[in-house]
Amino acid sequence: MVAGLQLDTQLEVQWDRIRTRLQTELGEGEYRAWLRQACVGSLDGEELTLLLPTNFLRDWVRGQHGARLSAAWQAENPAVRRVDVRVGTPPAVPIASERNAAGGLPAMPRPPERGGDAAGRNGDLAGSLDPRFTFSNFVVGKPNEFAYACARRVAERPASHGFNPLFLYGGVGLGKTHLMHAIAWELPTHSGAPGSSVAYMSAEKFMYRFIGAIRSQATMEFKEQLRSVDVLMIDDLQFLIGKDNTQEEFFHTFNALVDSGKQIVVSADKSPSDLSGIEDRLRTRLGCGMVADLHATTFELRISILEAKAASADVLVPGKVLEFLAHKITTNVRELEGALNRLIAHANLFARPITLETTQEVLHDILKAHDRRVTIDEIQRRVAEHYNIRLTDMASPRRARNVARPRQVAMYLAKQLTSRSLPEIGRKFGNRDHTTVMHAVARVGELMARDAGFADDVDLLRRMLEA
Ligand code: ADP
Ligand code: MG
Repeated sequence: MVAGLQLDTQLEVQWDRIRTRLQTELGEGEYRAWLRQACVGSLDGEELTLLLPTNFLRDWVRGQHGARLSAAWQAENPAVRRVDVRVGTPPAVPIASERNAAGGLPAMPRPPERGGDAAGRNGDLAGSLDPRFTFSNFVVGKPNEFAYACARRVAERPASHGFNPLFLYGGVGLGKTHLMHAIAWELPTHSGAPGSSVAYMSAEKFMYRFIGAIRSQATMEFKEQLRSVDVLMIDDLQFLIGKDNTQEEFFHTFNALVDSGKQIVVSADKSPSDLSGIEDRLRTRLGCGMVADLHATTFELRISILEAKAASADVLVPGKVLEFLAHKITTNVRELEGALNRLIAHANLFARPITLETTQEVLHDILKAHDRRVTIDEIQRRVAEHYNIRLTDMASPRRARNVARPRQVAMYLAKQLTSRSLPEIGRKFGNRDHTTVMHAVARVGELMARDAGFADDVDLLRRMLEA
């Protein structure tokens, strides 16, 4: 008994010296990640047993540090010929409570159409997956077809070569989160592996969980849980800019998962190369798989999205109204959806049909907010520049074709891009009558329909003004 105790103490002292050496040899980060929780189990003949709390840690330490540990022990204690690493906990270290403190990592959501019990079983992961964000609800168009195809591909064959990590980027409200959730919903169906698990969280949540784990001294548990998933998705990675420790942690998790053949999906508002404030080595790794850009929506895509959403409404939304919205609300899909929902809710509440007039009335504030982006002055300036005429010609009475046509284009764009009324627009163009503006709008529309070159020109101007 006493002898055993002395032996243990001796081993402890030796292990302490070895630890200190390993810390300098491996670096503090690596040591903390893998070996901090290791402790001496027993010396059985020539074999010394080290204990680690989880299978994952055991395998990792065996594989990555086994030889180094054996050598270190042999140098420290000639009686030791071999080192084995096993799962186990010495009674003095309260691992169990640490485990609880970390909380469970949610796993394996089910697509809603398959009648799964996502919310009940999976705590915060499934809770944060929006059941509306599926592939079938995602409208595909030129600006997002590549990102969509990549997302589909990853959902069908996770971790396949060239698609890991999948990096989705683009401006606010263009469908990044939607695509990530869609992948998560699709995965268990396709992978055919019932045990496959998905972790989805925003970078912000990742950080708070990481910090929480540090506070409750459960970082090991946290790491282990993260590293046990088949697919890890981190949304809005730009949040980690300047958060060096969390980045570091993410970097290690990232490497561990990719190295063991697991899929990573990341979204951000910029491409990896433009994400300044993210460590170079992480940036490099983020760009090594597939990088897919969600471009700003086009008029056509906005129309398709609106049509899809309107089709499931219980009121009729006229095509004219959809077009009007697609013209006016160009920044992001979320706002476009919000505007449509408000219209529909309003129509239901007051049992009034949706018309262009009610739309302008109901969405007055939204439309006005979008106006601020483009002013008539700006339109006049751009158009004058584009056609190489003087700005003063926009308001002059001259009727020569080479100034009259650009002026009509500017009136047309003023009507399309601002919510100014016809008389207001007329006033800005040298106090012209509202019928002149009406005529100009109609004329430009006609010309655009007839002449593709002219239409491209006007579209180009519109895009420049909207940018
Ligand atoms: P992001 O994460 O890029 O900021 P989201 O994925 O949250 O944008 O999208 C914002 C809203 O717009 C969501 O309600 C989403 O369903 C919708 N949305 C975006 N793109 C599309 C699309 N192509 N088809 C259907 N809905 C879309
Ligand atoms: Mg998002």
